[in-house]
Amino acid sequence: MSHVLAAVAWPYANGPRHIGHVSGFGVPSDVFARYMRMAGHDVLMVSGTDEHGTPIQVQADAEGVTPRELADRYNRVIAEDLRALGLSYDLFTRTTTRNHYAVVQELFTGLHRNGYIVPKVTTGAISPSTGRTLPDRYIEGTCPICGYDSARGDQCDNCGNQLDPIDLIDPKSKINGETPEFVETEHFFLDLPALADALRQWLDSRDGWRPNVLRFSRNLLDDLQPRAITRDLEWGVPIPLEGWQDRSDKRIYVWFDAVIGYLSASIEWARRSGDPEAWRKWWSADAEGKDARSYYFMGKDNIVFHSVIWPALLGGYSGDGSRDGEPGDLGRLNLPTEVVSSEYLTMEGRKFSSSRKVVIYVRDFLERYDADALRYFIAVAGPESNDTDFTWAEFLRRNNDELVAGWGNLVNRSVSMAAKNFGAIPPVDPAGLTDADRALLDTAKAGFAVVGDLIARHRQKQAIGEAMKVVAEANKYLSEQAPWKLKGDDDKPRMGTILHVALQVVSDANTLLTPFLPHSAQKIHELLGGTGVHAPMPVIEEVDDLDGGPAYPVLTGDYTVGARWESVPLEVGRPLAAPKPVFRKLDPSIVDEELARLAG
Ligand SMILES: [Zn+2]
Repeated sequence: MSHVLAAVAWPYANGPRHIGHVSGFGVPSDVFARYMRMAGHDVLMVSGTDEHGTPIQVQADAEGVTPRELADRYNRVIAEDLRALGLSYDLFTRTTTRNHYAVVQELFTGLHRNGYIVPKVTTGAISPSTGRTLPDRYIEGTCPICGYDSARGDQCDNCGNQLDPIDLIDPKSKINGETPEFVETEHFFLDLPALADALRQWLDSRDGWRPNVLRFSRNLLDDLQPRAITRDLEWGVPIPLEGWQDRSDKRIYVWFDAVIGYLSASIEWARRSGDPEAWRKWWSADAEGKDARSYYFMGKDNIVFHSVIWPALLGGYSGDGSRDGEPGDLGRLNLPTEVVSSEYLTMEGRKFSSSRKVVIYVRDFLERYDADALRYFIAVAGPESNDTDFTWAEFLRRNNDELVAGWGNLVNRSVSMAAKNFGAIPPVDPAGLTDADRALLDTAKAGFAVVGDLIARHRQKQAIGEAMKVVAEANKYLSEQAPWKLKGDDDKPRMGTILHVALQVVSDANTLLTPFLPHSAQKIHELLGGTGVHAPMPVIEEVDDLDGGPAYPVLTGDYTVGARWESVPLEVGRPLAAPKPVFRKLDPSIVDEELARLAG
């Protein structure tokens, strides 16, 4: 057993999330966390909404509300969507808590004391027509590194390099098209070159990462520059240094504060648990965290923040860089064990785009379809290691042919036949099991090692494929054994044996599928006569800010209950009722309806 941190990317609170987002960071991290808990690990799964930064400021200005009001609105929407998907966060919080501010300021102070944050006078962009700071993301131009002509001021989406807007060739404001003016202003910089050697050593010691992530991260180290971490902006975490703390025009910038959320959310979780130091078991690089492992889940556009920036902050705070230094009050902190990045999901062949309405929001999806239908699609056909396309036709096919006709049909016919003929889990005939019975039972049992190992190595597509193979074998077994033909009194013991074997394999396959399909797993557990919680679910709680700020909702849950990752022998004689279908077969007309919605 070890302490496993599932650190899930922080959705930005400027609107509802679409299914592309949750197929990248959401469902895969939940499958992993659920499996690790079932396998007996002590899992802490944390995240929250990322609420600072210029896009929220700009959007709030446009709507005539405060940034906080905008963040309040979308924090609620996003937390509710993630709950409805069954994502089992121990704590899903937000970056506007006082606890988060304090942890961000502690990291900043520690890095500054160790010499990895340095002040520098630099040139920043302002809008000549309004005189206000022009945010990086609102400046577009040609990338000075690769020549891509739509690079953003903060990052080039083509080559992945972080940029400063002044480096762009022919910069333009995306708000009104004017050419920004660059003026001198003082800011703090993270001295990434002083941490580059330590980062390289650490990356060289990483095992089992997806090769594309490792290659991409190593390339970034070749050209590391000091990076500004403060901005001329009112909306954000104040700079915790004398002479700066009370300035309302300078703030820590959003990318610096958001990655610290993993740590601040863990600390908030510990404080709420009644043991304020408990977070150290997942984070301390000293004895307290000796069995800790941490896994970070995100879309590929966020790799740089997790494989370079965040490790740089942790290393610098711990004093591991060319300037050495001493760790602050939080102690020496663990760097990520693994950065698990997914690729992009497209929609009917196009990139998701809220502005162009190429989008389906999680809430809209869940109004019309079940959460497990979406979770199934993401698991079998999501963007795990390649960009993949969501099409309604494929969603319909996967749902009807695989989930309903494969898994749902196996559950339904086994349970109904047993309920009708025995009213309970039937006994095994004293004559014993046949080779075919044993072979099927062994296949299901062997699934635990195979599927578990694949999930632990982030090969979820293969993992669910192996679980569905058990389902296919069981369907084949039922067809071959044809228990419905064994109606006579003499045949009934054999019928009971076949149904006992089938139900045992349904129970095992249900456990194998629980990390992927937790909602239906609970229902199937109950169809088999089981009681209690099989797959625990998250809940939303309204909580007070621990340090006197405004109250807010968090997503949390009790995940100490539920099934373990093992085959549990069914209890003979446990009563069974006639089942209701677990999965919904969809009418083919939904494809045209959804495409019309998309067009309209
Ligand atoms: Zn570029």
